[in-house]
Amino acid sequence: MDRIVVQAPSGAYNIHFGRDIWQQVQQMARGYDQALVVSDKNVAALYGHRLPFPISPLEPGEGTKSFETIAALVDDWAERGLDRYSLVIALGGGVVGDLVGLTASVYRRGIAYVQIPTTLVAQVDGGVGGKTGINTPRGKNLVGTFYQPWGVFIDPSVLSTLPDREITNGLGEVLKYGVVNDPALFEVVRGHVDAFYELDLEVVAPVIRRCVEIKGEIVAADERDRGLRRILNHGHTFGHAIEKAAGYRHNHGEAVLMGMLLEGRLAHLLGLLSSADLAAIEDALFRVKLDYSFAHLDKGEMISALIHDKKNRKGSISFILPREIGRAEEVLLSVEDVEKYWDEVIRG
Ligand code: ADP
Ligand code: ZN
Repeated sequence: MDRIVVQAPSGAYNIHFGRDIWQQVQQMARGYDQALVVSDKNVAALYGHRLPFPISPLEPGEGTKSFETIAALVDDWAERGLDRYSLVIALGGGVVGDLVGLTASVYRRGIAYVQIPTTLVAQVDGGVGGKTGINTPRGKNLVGTFYQPWGVFIDPSVLSTLPDREITNGLGEVLKYGVVNDPALFEVVRGHVDAFYELDLEVVAPVIRRCVEIKGEIVAADERDRGLRRILNHGHTFGHAIEKAAGYRHNHGEAVLMGMLLEGRLAHLLGLLSSADLAAIEDALFRVKLDYSFAHLDKGEMISALIHDKKNRKGSISFILPREIGRAEEVLLSVEDVEKYWDEVIRG
């Protein structure tokens, strides 16, 4: 049995890998009086039958991450009599994971839940680390908690039904782990981007495992996002601003890939990253199926989004910039600095 133990300060839990996770979840559920699967309608139709438990299906899409859905879930769980001897199983992508994690953390002051992430981004990022959240009209993930799951179960073969755009979404985070932490991982992914779209599990499964290992180590050292965990924000300062300035037309991973390109160039312009390393990063990014054009981004809107970034410190904008492939550090820049480099950064 293949697993990684995450030593989160709030408690340790296992991340299991492989095609036999479905049996393992059932085995775990035997320790509870009842189990309920929460999923979205797409994922429920594809994989719901693999677990012999009732399913609450949600509407797919980011719009489901709302207070209304929490209220509906709480009603549903109460009607089904879920209590602290019950287990909730979140089966799906980031939307299901974030929403079920948050609801599980507040329902009866917290009940047991496990994650079965089914998108690439959820398998390498969202499913690990215990961040939960919903959106409000005033912001994405404005309401959330840190609540570690009782276990995470990853079957990479479910990615075979994911559309290409969802693979691209996940590749943002995958390449990010390489750039900030692991040059060998970076090279493997750079050389095998196609393997992700074709879902060659001999390449993809070990990459997912390595990403989870990196994230697990970082979360163990910094559960609440104060220190080391910040390096995982590489690509995310420009990335979040791009998501906002473009009216959320790019998904998160697409914006992170675009953000990594801009932040790599910024690091180079600041003399922090060599030309060779920037060229390698650009090469990897350009192998991903994504149109890296920035013409639609309004500079003023980008700057305004950067000014409101929650990662900002001491009135400066916080960037996690690569120093070389496999190592990144936080750099604080003024708004004026960013304005000065903007044109050059988007031109490349
Ligand atoms: P995220 O990309 O953040 O994980 P979602 O949870 O919204 O986001 O999932 C993205 C979309 O992919 C949703 O429409 C969801 O129903 C669908 N989906 C999730 N997992 C799979 C899968 N394994 N196969 C096919 N579609 C999936
Ligand atoms: Zn991210």
